[in-house]
Amino acid sequence: MDKGSSWHRLRKAIHLVCFLVFLALPFLNVIRADIPHQRFYFFGYELWINEFAIIFFALMFLMFLVVASSVFYGRVYCGYLCPQMIFSEASVAVESFLRRRVAKKLIAWKPARRERLVRVLFYAAMAIASVFLAFLFIAYFVEPRDLFHRLASLDIHTAAGISGAAVTILTFLDFSLVRQKFCTTVCPYGYLQGMLGDGDTLLVHYRDAEHACIECKKCVRICPMGIDIRESPFQIECIHCGECIDACDEILARLHKPGLIHYTWGEKGERLNDPGPRPWYRRIGLRDPKRVVVLLVLTFYAAGLLAAFSMRHAVLVRIAPIRATLYRVDAAGRVFNRFRYSVSNRGHAPTAVILSIQHLPGATLAMEPNPIPVAAGQTAQGEFEISAPPHSQSALVSHFTIETSTVPDQARDTFPMTFLAPPERQAP
Ligand code: SF4
Ligand code: SF4
Repeated sequence: MDKGSSWHRLRKAIHLVCFLVFLALPFLNVIRADIPHQRFYFFGYELWINEFAIIFFALMFLMFLVVASSVFYGRVYCGYLCPQMIFSEASVAVESFLRRRVAKKLIAWKPARRERLVRVLFYAAMAIASVFLAFLFIAYFVEPRDLFHRLASLDIHTAAGISGAAVTILTFLDFSLVRQKFCTTVCPYGYLQGMLGDGDTLLVHYRDAEHACIECKKCVRICPMGIDIRESPFQIECIHCGECIDACDEILARLHKPGLIHYTWGEKGERLNDPGPRPWYRRIGLRDPKRVVVLLVLTFYAAGLLAAFSMRHAVLVRIAPIRATLYRVDAAGRVFNRFRYSVSNRGHAPTAVILSIQHLPGATLAMEPNPIPVAAGQTAQGEFEISAPPHSQSALVSHFTIETSTVPDQARDTFPMTFLAPPERQAP
């Protein structure tokens, strides 16, 4: 970023993009957990709740992405990306806007009366915004159209309705009263940053070797967290937003001097904008073992996620023997073993699964229907029997295979199984 650039403008542009992304994610199924239907949506993939490996790798990857960003770039998430910060600052901006407008339009009113009107207008605006934000938040857990119908019918009886009412109240209290206090009282991320950061982490640093500070305190007045960056670059409240950098740049530019606050790589490191002689990977401390480990773990989870997706089949078949009764022998001496199947169609088109048996001479599969038809998004379950003629097995336990084939995509799978026969049937 060039000298004299505005971190404030950059932040507000990023806040707007983040808000639009936050708005779009549940509607486009980019990231959404559908609790009523027990589904997890991840970048368009509809994952079932039993696809634990993919969900695990996805969550761990996202978590380590935040950890890596904290190690390298400090609290960039807090200052630039966090929804709590974005909506808190928007709430403060709305309140300031109303105060200015009321003061300008109702100049004849007494200040106390104007302030009462500002409070009423502000709380009304926050109430409307809270309903919208609560809807958006719950849409991450309940299908948005379903949620809208519940809201339209004033449903406050079901779990979604009760959650909606509770989240609306909490959102209203948060953005009317708590706002940035949430970051220093409830959110653990600021405290975690203390552990994750190191000597090369990006931070906001005040440096005044030439005693050029004119004590205007504009950096303090502008700070959304109400702190004085000159006291220390490691204050737990500092979200590294860069607003104080802009403030100081602007004030000292009038005196034809450079600003005293900068983004720097660590307390003693270079400034973010410095065209230093060191290569970029040294400037951000990439040789630090902790950073290498974090990047390796992040790569591991990214690779695991890709591998889990590449091995994913739209149709999940499960087959297991029912051993409550080991076997059944009919009047003709034929031996029956019972099995249970479950076929989940996680795709978007109907499918069918054909079962067949291999390596069990003379055995037949008694099953209706076969192929098993399964509609999109449905699971079919049932039981079937495999029977073998008398004296066809030489062992008490015979190993064989059940093969499955899906229609129409011909994906095959095999299930090693055992067939049990009574001892008296064994060949002499
Ligand atoms: S804005 Fe700059 S000059 Fe003014 S008090 Fe802060 S550091 Fe000093
Ligand atoms: S001290 Fe500066 S960077 Fe830190 S929160 Fe305040 S304005 Fe933002």
